[in-house]
Amino acid sequence: MSLITRRKFATLAGLVTVSGVLKPGWGQSHAAEPPAGKAPVKAVAKEAAPTVAAPAAAPKVDRSIASPEEIWNDLIEGNKRFTSGKTAPRDVIAARIKTANSQQPYVAVLCCSDSRLSPELLFDQNIGDLFVVRTAGHVADPIALGSLEYAIEHLHSRMLVVLGHEKCGAVAATLSGEAMPTENLTALVEKIRPGIDRLKGLVQGETLMSLAVEANVHYCASNLIEASPIVRHEVAAGKLTVVKAVYKLGSGEVLRLGGNFSEGASASKH
Ligand SMILES: [Zn+2]
Repeated sequence: MSLITRRKFATLAGLVTVSGVLKPGWGQSHAAEPPAGKAPVKAVAKEAAPTVAAPAAAPKVDRSIASPEEIWNDLIEGNKRFTSGKTAPRDVIAARIKTANSQQPYVAVLCCSDSRLSPELLFDQNIGDLFVVRTAGHVADPIALGSLEYAIEHLHSRMLVVLGHEKCGAVAATLSGEAMPTENLTALVEKIRPGIDRLKGLVQGETLMSLAVEANVHYCASNLIEASPIVRHEVAAGKLTVVKAVYKLGSGEVLRLGGNFSEGASASKH
């Protein structure tokens, strides 16, 4: 494939940077050296910030026993803090110490690798709250599936969120129908294609892109249940809830797909 094709895919999928030349000095220490002949400026001690009442850090419900609705509402509360810019102060030290020897991430997330889609940030979560598996287009190959099965079987995750996002490059690359430059990238789009091909010719432009993103989420969620005996068994037993959702890049909102926690086809706000 031509360089143009490769770069076009990279731009679409957001997988590869086009230029890799480091500027001189990158990677060097950022410790400031005073100019010759001048004494270093002493750091001015800052006064301690006044203690203010801060919103409690997530999660606010006991996810080991909470209902799927309560767990999801707790996640959406975090998303609202994120979209409003009022995220809870994260005590990462306490969370790190608490989880050093064990973890109980009751929520697993399968989402795209896109750099704009960070589950911990957009749900305002802390260390140990989410078990996250990320691939371009949130395609679940056997390794990704195995990772999720580990979370469900071994770590007892009770909710699995399949999270797509607006303007997903992997979905756009698949829709383009262009040949991919490597076998690996071909394998990626071929995993996405069956879930979105039926839309081509029915709608165009942004509508096609938006519906394809949702279709890819539904397709991936269906594949999870079909391909994983653990997911299938836990869902059937009522011990695991699969939630499908789409992230809005501009507003930061997470919109759940469907009217309840098991079925549904259209986006509904929270
Ligand atoms: Zn994506």
